[in-house]
Amino acid sequence: MIKAFMIDLDGVVYKGKTPREGAADFFNYLTSHNIPHCVVTNHSSFHRKYYSERLKRMGINLPMNRILSSPYEVALRAKELGYKRAYVIGREGLIEELKEVGCAVSDDPEVVVVGYDENYDFRKITEAIRIVLNGKPLWVVNPDRLLPKEDGFYPDSGSLGASIAYATDTQPVYFGKPNRHIFEKAFELLKTEPEESVMIGDTLETDILGAKRVGARSVYIYGVEKQERRDIVPDFSFRNLKEVLDNLGEIMGVDR
Ligand SMILES: [Mg+2]
Repeated sequence: MIKAFMIDLDGVVYKGKTPREGAADFFNYLTSHNIPHCVVTNHSSFHRKYYSERLKRMGINLPMNRILSSPYEVALRAKELGYKRAYVIGREGLIEELKEVGCAVSDDPEVVVVGYDENYDFRKITEAIRIVLNGKPLWVVNPDRLLPKEDGFYPDSGSLGASIAYATDTQPVYFGKPNRHIFEKAFELLKTEPEESVMIGDTLETDILGAKRVGARSVYIYGVEKQERRDIVPDFSFRNLKEVLDNLGEIMGVDR
């Protein structure tokens, strides 16, 4: 029986600036029925407080401690390893999460961190490559290839980190889904076992593959992602959270 939900944001709760159908109703249903839930996002641009405020404007009340983001996971890892300095390609939210655990932006760093960055340029890549060639690890905030926005797809962290990885012949450390660590944080937070939890997401390579790897159930929101992966098969597929809510009894294995 399913007891808890992990929900992706981009493409599931909203696409670009537009809320997706059924998102607020779905969260409000979970809240009013005391069903534990959290969001798990690979998006690398924002601090967790941004999501809490944004969701509130959509009519969804979710405190910051129910939001797991890959920048937060990066910050927790930096703290665990005692890193105080990072070379960051990325946006303010990522830098802020790092600062909060005592890791400052530096040109003489202990690690290179790459997230989504609209100001990604030749100088930054060159700097990052030189640091990695000097033996520092390369952390990529998520392995996502593409970031869907209203006007189309943008290259995400995975794609931006790829040139640095290629140039230095280095295997990056990837954060976010589909890696086990962020899911383990979610199970801890929700106080559930993997097999009692469902991941809802629109990306087969991260949301659905990650859920399968850790033994959780999965709901695929189709029609958002560009590339289909026929080798990754979700437990359920729906168009949006409205359809998920309409079929919640079946997903949870209980009569609603
Ligand atoms: Mg998504």
